Amino acid sequence: MAQPRRPLIAGNWKMNGLAKAGLALARDIAARRAAADPGCDIVLCPPATLVRAVAEAVAGSVIAVGGQDCHAQPSGAHTGDIAAPMLADAGCRYVILGHSERRQDHDESSEQVKAKVEAALAAGLIAILCVGESAAERDAGVALGVVARQLGASLPAMARPDRVAVAYEPVWAIGTGRTPTLPEIQEMHAHLRDLLSRAMPGGEATRILYGGSVKPGNARPILGQPDVDGALVGGASLKAEDFWAIVQSCR
Ligand code: PEP
Repeated sequence: MAQPRRPLIAGNWKMNGLAKAGLALARDIAARRAAADPGCDIVLCPPATLVRAVAEAVAGSVIAVGGQDCHAQPSGAHTGDIAAPMLADAGCRYVILGHSERRQDHDESSEQVKAKVEAALAAGLIAILCVGESAAERDAGVALGVVARQLGASLPAMARPDRVAVAYEPVWAIGTGRTPTLPEIQEMHAHLRDLLSRAMPGGEATRILYGGSVKPGNARPILGQPDVDGALVGGASLKAEDFWAIVQSCR
């Protein structure tokens, strides 16, 4: 019988957090985690400047740390970039790749994202690979095809279900307070699971996270969808109480 997929709740702090507040937030979340097993994996993705300090702050808890991006090369003349082995060396187990803000702000193509996923896997990191359609694409009724093309072009052949999680993040839902309907979320996640089952051996076991305006008030019904295996949380991950309420919605 197939193993149940253990949910994953990932907090994406984006470009937020100076040392004092960031470490207090990480310690607050880690202290809550020590009290009871919420039945899911938890990862905090602070800005790169705080990765090592947050990893030290949550050491001894089961909370993992992730980066928000990495370069496709393991080292070299790439001023300002961070290589996947550097993230691993600083205490990361995960890295978010292909986030729509990077696809937009840095013109990242799916081919570049694929090379980054390969670099992350080679460094022993688990990649959280983001895909998602724009509002215009959703309105035009082409969201399923757009996301299928993004996944196909971003997922390397070396990907395995225990080394990659896919985050479905409709661009128009990120930071807007808007979300797709529950049937729309489930439809996209079932579609992704079908694609993943054909893309790699055992691919149907891949964790598929939903991201886009997840809050304590909507987390439980979203996480309750049969093909939703967790959440990638932006704004609500910056308040320990809100992030923890989302974590508890996994039960
Ligand atoms: C994100 O940035 O990945 C995200 C989902 O942001 P928010 O939760 O703020 O919409």
